[in-house]
Amino acid sequence: MLATAKDPNIYEILQKCLEGKKILKRDAYNLINSVDCTDLIVDTGRKIRDRIKIGPITYSRKVFINLINLCRDTCSYCTYKKEPYDNSVTMMKPEQVLAIAEAGRRLHCTEALFVTGERPEQKYQEAKAWLNSVRRSSTVEYINEMCEMVLNKTGLLPHTNAGSMTKKDMSLLKETNVSLGMMLESSSRRLSEKGMPHENAPSKNPKVRIKALENAGQLRIPLTTGLLIGIGETPEELVDSLFTIEEISQKYGHIQEIIMQNFVPKPETGMERSAPPTYNYFIKSISIARMIMPEINIQVPPNLNPNIFGKYLDAGINDWGGISPVTIDHVNPESPWPSIESVKYVTENRGCKFRARLPVYPEFIVKDDGFIKDRLKNYINLISDGRGLVREDYIN
Ligand code: SF4
Repeated sequence: MLATAKDPNIYEILQKCLEGKKILKRDAYNLINSVDCTDLIVDTGRKIRDRIKIGPITYSRKVFINLINLCRDTCSYCTYKKEPYDNSVTMMKPEQVLAIAEAGRRLHCTEALFVTGERPEQKYQEAKAWLNSVRRSSTVEYINEMCEMVLNKTGLLPHTNAGSMTKKDMSLLKETNVSLGMMLESSSRRLSEKGMPHENAPSKNPKVRIKALENAGQLRIPLTTGLLIGIGETPEELVDSLFTIEEISQKYGHIQEIIMQNFVPKPETGMERSAPPTYNYFIKSISIARMIMPEINIQVPPNLNPNIFGKYLDAGINDWGGISPVTIDHVNPESPWPSIESVKYVTENRGCKFRARLPVYPEFIVKDDGFIKDRLKNYINLISDGRGLVREDYIN
């Protein structure tokens, strides 16, 4: 039977979370499946955030460098991946990369987000030819060179999301990136079965993604990961995915942030007719993530929820992710970022402080524990304050 707000069990579970006790998986299942407890769950998520994450609500002022949008995989919801004949295919040259980074520097951005499809050179002759033209043999090698260039010439701090990289690739990028990103999306193997969204995306097999998350941990790389919610997972699988991240985070201490991203159906994709997650399901998942990982940084992208993003603050998030005053969100080009001013307004209207952070979170900057290469710390020190946030006079 589904739990309701009248069910004393629900109060007991939430009370235990408020007292700082670890939530059990079966209790999280109960919460996500409950029928009329959303307000109670959300209220608890926010109270835990207020108690544990006492700093400001943050965002990262960034440019989005869409280095190459060819991808060897195919996910049924994706519009980022292009084909070589598409008008909007990109294979960027160094001067194009630098022009974006320079524009970002002029507008006081601090993050250069590098995004690519999954190992495009394994599938496309065009990607190989592009790499030949820049005298590199792999996308990761080229990313590394571009990160070095951006770092040296603009001081923007690189953060790369290039899919499920090998340990060797990650190790190389640790030299030039202050953090890396890779969504787990879901730990459900079912989503890779026939007819499911990851059927044609071997890199989305949770075994591959979990291995990559662990590799990053072994290399002590601050890592952003997260879930894509509403792509066909069951509520229990969603909870299982959160516990998977929690377990890895406990083991290595390198998960700097979890993105809770709601699936949005897009035209001309395999899932264009699939329903997005309901508001109740999505907002409960955010608060339950906060209960499972009280200390982790949790982000919801405001551009995917333009009119209601403030509500996710009420559910326990403490970050808005990257927002760019320069470039669009190339993964969700139909969803423009709200202005930084409007996100500030919504945040402050709820009584919270609003501050810019770097692409690596303060806790990894302030502690001197091998997560960031010394040479990168020199760049960080130029733009950060004593708390590891962006110096206010750098932006204003
Ligand atoms: S791996 Fe990423 S870029 Fe490639 S199809 Fe899937 S979502 Fe799109």
